[in-house]
Amino acid sequence: AAETYCDVVREHARVSGDVTAFSFAGEDISFAELDAGADRVASALAALGIGPGDRVAFLGKNHPLYFEAFLGANRIGAVMTPVNWRLAAPEVAYVLGNCCARVVFVGEGFADMLAGIRGDCPLVEQVIGIDAPDYAGTDYRTWRDGFSPSPPAHRVAAQDDALQLYTSGTTGKPKGAVITHGSLLSSRDGAAAGEEMRVWQQPIPGDVTLLAMPCFHISGTGTGIGTMVAGTCSIVLPEYDPTKALDLIENFNISKIFLVPAALQILLNHPRVGEVDFSRLKYVTYGASPIPLELMREAIRVMGCGFVQMYGMTETTGTIVALDPEDHVAEGSVRMRSVGKPLAGVEIKVIDEGGNAVPTGTVGEIATRSDKNMRGYWNNDAATRATIGPDGWLRTGDAGYLDADGYLYIHDRVKNMIISGGENVYPAEVENALYSHPKVADVAVIGVPDDKWGEAVKACVVLKPGEAMTEDEIIAHARTQIAGYKCPKSVDFIPALPRNPSGKILRRELRAPYWAGKD
Ligand code: ATP
Ligand code: MG
Repeated sequence: AAETYCDVVREHARVSGDVTAFSFAGEDISFAELDAGADRVASALAALGIGPGDRVAFLGKNHPLYFEAFLGANRIGAVMTPVNWRLAAPEVAYVLGNCCARVVFVGEGFADMLAGIRGDCPLVEQVIGIDAPDYAGTDYRTWRDGFSPSPPAHRVAAQDDALQLYTSGTTGKPKGAVITHGSLLSSRDGAAAGEEMRVWQQPIPGDVTLLAMPCFHISGTGTGIGTMVAGTCSIVLPEYDPTKALDLIENFNISKIFLVPAALQILLNHPRVGEVDFSRLKYVTYGASPIPLELMREAIRVMGCGFVQMYGMTETTGTIVALDPEDHVAEGSVRMRSVGKPLAGVEIKVIDEGGNAVPTGTVGEIATRSDKNMRGYWNNDAATRATIGPDGWLRTGDAGYLDADGYLYIHDRVKNMIISGGENVYPAEVENALYSHPKVADVAVIGVPDDKWGEAVKACVVLKPGEAMTEDEIIAHARTQIAGYKCPKSVDFIPALPRNPSGKILRRELRAPYWAGKD
């Protein structure tokens, strides 16, 4: 049996080499081309002295040659780190230095940034431009084609490192999660071992996936690896663009797309959304941050396809729990507040502060164990030990509970919990309640210091264009939805919420002015 996705791609190239693996700006790359290109990259990297365990990085917008370079690096045992291109130059320098990248592949538009930080990245020996006219040095295609498609023999095994992906940095500095080949292939292996694979997980020949989320996030890279393993095609967007996404859905038979909730909201707000024919779209998968129930209901009404919610994290190679299409109903249901049931081969439990499992229905920290768990954080044993126990259970940092049917409900991150007058308040629940008001466009809830309550619940509200509302009105609305102690005590009306590229609210930025000098 195949041990790595590298073997799987080799097999697809052998038996169905003409099938398109990636399509990008009108250029198609077949499995045979991908396979041979990756072998040339492997030879070229080996000629630079790159070998097992070495890190190479990619700084650029989504590009299919990123996956070719990734596969090529993996074939000689090297590890790929895609870097978040939305970061500021010193943050990029931090990631490149932290992962010890020796070679950096740079995409169009980032050559200047990289040149500006080269002095801070002494370990970087070589920069190669992937379709980057702004970079005057080595061109990827020319470089690759100068090498043989028979790289040095190297056997890649399931326990070898494949990918080093940095977390989104929502709660602090991004951490480098080291992901092995076994983890990249594990969803498929669960099925190979005879465990049930959910219907929407099963590859269908001819499926076309729109890769619209960034490859520096597990959602983008995971999508590309997933279609390579399935032997199907990903159409790659350099970055998310709702107009292009709608156009491709209509005209290129897109059958699957993954979107974070913020991107789904942008799609539904698009002026053309009502005219688009979604009939060929089979599944919209979404996740990576909490989704308001109202948004789910609207998406079901407008798009009418199957919906799958995914819960997971960088440290678990993406999805570990999913809510099936059957549990999505336009009228809304209790189940739609759940992130669903664990995937085959994934164990989930809810624990208290002492690490003991709590009874069904009790809120605690969610822990998980499966082949999808990362090996650890790169060069950070203390953080690894604090996250993965000797028994292999990984603490997610998320608070939630399991119901009697095994459905998992996420409340929020443990860190986001507000303790007000001794009661635990989870911002996500309060946000969901406020979001149901028709004048509210966006909302974030934080705890602010309060002499009487310890922390008081504050809502930061973005109103829809042209709407006006008072603090009292919004608090009164909350009172009709949730318990009094969870309702905001004060409201800030702001023009927009600070979010990171995965659409997650940066609560620490909202909290900072209130907590200056206090925590
Ligand atoms: P950092 O760890 O650097 O603070 P991050 O946790 O945002 O950043 P990711 O690994 O991209 O980085 O995100 C994983 C987190 O996203 C989970 O721990 C959880 O809090 C949240 N999340 C993922 N899927 C869902 C979902 N379906 N519903 C609610 N929250 C989700
Ligand atoms: Mg995290």
